[in-house]
Amino acid sequence: MRLFDPHIHMTSRTTDDYEAMYQAGIRAIVEPAFWLGEPRTHVGSFEDYFLSLVGWERFRASQFGIKHLCTMGLNPKEANNPRLAEGVMELLPRYLEKDGVVAVGEIGYDDVTATEEKYLIAQIELARAHALPVLIHTPHRNKKAGTERTLSVIKESGLDPGLFIVDHNNEETIATTLDAGCWAGHSIYPGTKMDEVRMVALIQKYGAEKIIVNSAADWGKSDPLKVPKTTDKMLEAGLAEAIIKKVCWDNPRDFFAQSGRIDMLAIEQDLPIDQTQLHAENSVLRGQSPRVEGA
Ligand SMILES: [Zn+2]
Repeated sequence: MRLFDPHIHMTSRTTDDYEAMYQAGIRAIVEPAFWLGEPRTHVGSFEDYFLSLVGWERFRASQFGIKHLCTMGLNPKEANNPRLAEGVMELLPRYLEKDGVVAVGEIGYDDVTATEEKYLIAQIELARAHALPVLIHTPHRNKKAGTERTLSVIKESGLDPGLFIVDHNNEETIATTLDAGCWAGHSIYPGTKMDEVRMVALIQKYGAEKIIVNSAADWGKSDPLKVPKTTDKMLEAGLAEAIIKKVCWDNPRDFFAQSGRIDMLAIEQDLPIDQTQLHAENSVLRGQSPRVEGA
């Protein structure tokens, strides 16, 4: 089965991860712009990061047969730095117009500060102006209150709630997210938040409509194979293949296709792999022989 991981920070991952993801069936991913661990001190660092998301990282994924899409945004954590936030907001319109950018995100609340709210609202307006859907991060602490506040901001925007993924849901928040008309994202982490078995139980209870599953893998303790590991648990639990395909392929594809930037025929085809290719004279190889398949 072809799988889609709609929230993964590949910039922080290795080529071994790309190979294992391909082996496990992952053929498309969305990499949301986010925080890199070390707070950035220059607006230019954001710009170079945005360039790498639409440039090098997309190329790197393609070298392992994976279609790479991304979202652009000022993440909530760094929105709290007034020296940077305005500069990043000025950059965003240019990057939101780029090919392969399929949403504004990830944006939302981290500590639930007034500044975070200001930039959440401002970026929802950018999404409106650029006719893009939105990927919303919800806080890890005070998740229930943070999610409810996020949903009221979405409601006040007047935009179609179907244009929003509210991410990192759990048993406490899924019903309110779905009732608000938003898509409900779930990040399957080792040891915390949501695991594969709890995710299966949520699908059994709430169905597959507007349900999204991702690994949210990044530079922290996380696992880029959590989407295929969840599909394994779904199969074991006896969920129909049509349900699994809907959750782990059709739903993320259809959500991000609202950007108008996903070729619905091409996304169903396997990418040719040609590791003889270069990006800015740079290759993923270190003297190994290139893999060439279907090129
Ligand atoms: Zn993330």
